[in-house]
Amino acid sequence: MAKTETKAVICVACPLGCHVQVTMEGGRPVKALGAQCRKGLEYATQEIQDPVRVLATTVPVTGGILPLLPVRTEGPVPRRMLRACMLALAQCRVQAPVRAGQVILENVAGTGVRVIASRDLPRLSSGL
Ligand code: SF4
Repeated sequence: MAKTETKAVICVACPLGCHVQVTMEGGRPVKALGAQCRKGLEYATQEIQDPVRVLATTVPVTGGILPLLPVRTEGPVPRRMLRACMLALAQCRVQAPVRAGQVILENVAGTGVRVIASRDLPRLSSGL
């Protein structure tokens, strides 16, 4: 018989933040208590089997009004890849001006996800 265990996850798919108790059987979710909608089981399953996160950080920028540019992944990346993503971003240098949404790095750490600028960053000499 497959081993049964219960794991607790807080669903963050919406502001309600349901406390979900997921029963796992043989490593697969079979029941979820506490979720107020179907997204809760989907979120809890993902969180238990292979959690993902949107990575937000900064990269150095030259010639801009600020020394650092806030950036984020365009979508979630596996949590186990966050360190590799940070190491890839540690090699990035950006030249101002930068527009919000501009692609800073394609396919970060082989995840297939792009890193984009989170804000505009004008050139220092642009007269702001
Ligand atoms: S289970 Fe549904 S209602 Fe509860 S936090 Fe997740 S998305 Fe929101």
